[in-house]
Amino acid sequence: MKFENQFFQTFEDTKKNFLTRVNPTAVSRPKIIGWSESVARDLGILRTDEKLTEILSGNYVSSEMKPYSARYGGHQFGHWAGQLGDGRAITLGEINHLEVQLKGAGLTPYSRQGDGRAVLRSSLREFICSEAMHGLGIPTTRALSLALTGDQIIRDILYNGNPAPERGAIVTRVSPSFIRFGHFEILSTNQQFDELKKLTDYVIENFYPEILVLNLNEKQKYAEFLKQVAVRTAQMITGWMSVGFVHGVMNTDNMSILGLTIDYGPYGWVEEFDSDFTPNTTDFHQRRYRYSAQPQIALWNLNCLANALFPLIEDKDLVVEALNHYQKRYESVYSDLLSKKLGIQLERTEQDSQFLTRLFDLLHATQVDYNLFFRHLSQDRIDGHFFEEIKNISYKKDFESTEQSGWYDWIEEYGARIKLQARPDYLQTMKSSNPSIIFRNYLAQQAIDAAEKDDYSLIEKYLEELKEPFKDRDLNHDPMAQKRPAWADDKPGCSILSCSS
Ligand code: AMP
Ligand code: MG
Repeated sequence: MKFENQFFQTFEDTKKNFLTRVNPTAVSRPKIIGWSESVARDLGILRTDEKLTEILSGNYVSSEMKPYSARYGGHQFGHWAGQLGDGRAITLGEINHLEVQLKGAGLTPYSRQGDGRAVLRSSLREFICSEAMHGLGIPTTRALSLALTGDQIIRDILYNGNPAPERGAIVTRVSPSFIRFGHFEILSTNQQFDELKKLTDYVIENFYPEILVLNLNEKQKYAEFLKQVAVRTAQMITGWMSVGFVHGVMNTDNMSILGLTIDYGPYGWVEEFDSDFTPNTTDFHQRRYRYSAQPQIALWNLNCLANALFPLIEDKDLVVEALNHYQKRYESVYSDLLSKKLGIQLERTEQDSQFLTRLFDLLHATQVDYNLFFRHLSQDRIDGHFFEEIKNISYKKDFESTEQSGWYDWIEEYGARIKLQARPDYLQTMKSSNPSIIFRNYLAQQAIDAAEKDDYSLIEKYLEELKEPFKDRDLNHDPMAQKRPAWADDKPGCSILSCSS
């Protein structure tokens, strides 16, 4: 494995360095239990490569690597939290212009009170979900491998005073960059404006090179950068909303400057439709990061980024102009996605907005599984039988008569619109926007429970299946294409999660 260190070298001499050299701490019995062949191909590495397990568990650092952790800050749950940083992530270097980073590889200068480690359950969830998001076509960091460390670490999963030993693990994450909004915020807050400029120029040059050919003056260049980050962020959020993904911890230190889904923690998927859903128990009261709030929160976070970049832009109008692109892009992409999900062309009319409101109200009132609803809708002609399917994918025992008639009316109107408006290939379009499978939390929990007992087969199975989430499946029998089973309703990890990881 041949590593380069472009990012580190560019910033090595920077005064008050915000990247710190640190080696991973060795682990006792490393074992790779998850492997993404497609990421390995991107990197040009083989499972049989020499010293692979040692490298991906932090036990071997070659002379060409310059492992480091990065300093960043962040707004957490609406408040400036000051300096955070890679408390347990260590970047080994770059391969094929992709950063290779070990998460859970031991203490770093930014570990604060943490132990620098990560448990198997959260690592498995990050490993598979990164690859599942990629399968869904949603911008994300990737994951190459999941390794057990062979060491135990202590966690209090429910934060109720019951700490217990758990298996430690390391995910090897891969991304063009792991730079977050928080990298810019900490430099700006500390008034390190030279470094702020240098970092911004680095990101533009390497990840937004199209800005450089626009012939802009300095201020316009940085405003254009803010605009393009806003646009990429909007694109990512529409992806989340489309498939009911709830990140759970949208702090600015968890916002990628490349508009990638990053830092998979207590995430979840909307199952029984509820726009207030959040899987994160730490956020139960405020529900700041609930499903329906994600688009506004992303904008709030972009405002933090704008504040951080302001010393480079120094022009309020340019900033406002740049940020306006977020809403514009979000609305146009999201409404296009909804049209695709339904197979009809939605317009910005009062009638269409009511049609959608009725649908979402019904999904909520009758607790219908969000993704399965759209997938069943994509299967074939919609007629009276469709109501039976809706009942099967609902979590509610009995529908009230108003709910039943509400559905009959909606189905009738939808059927009429399909007849009138749908293109010949509309079912294909719908299927490619409505996944038949997603990485539900209960599936993750099954893989975790098995892995805790040394059975790693589900990791491979889920990784394989989730590569093709839009493929045709037997919706009546395929076990992965079903709603959450009742046994999982109240089991920790299957629907709701704490931040403990
Ligand atoms: P997260 O909520 O996972 O995004 O983490 C927030 C911050 O806490 C980041 O700076 C992490 O690096 C840090 N952190 C989380 N867990 C640990 C740990 N076990 N050891 C050290 N730092 C951690
Ligand atoms: Mg984080």
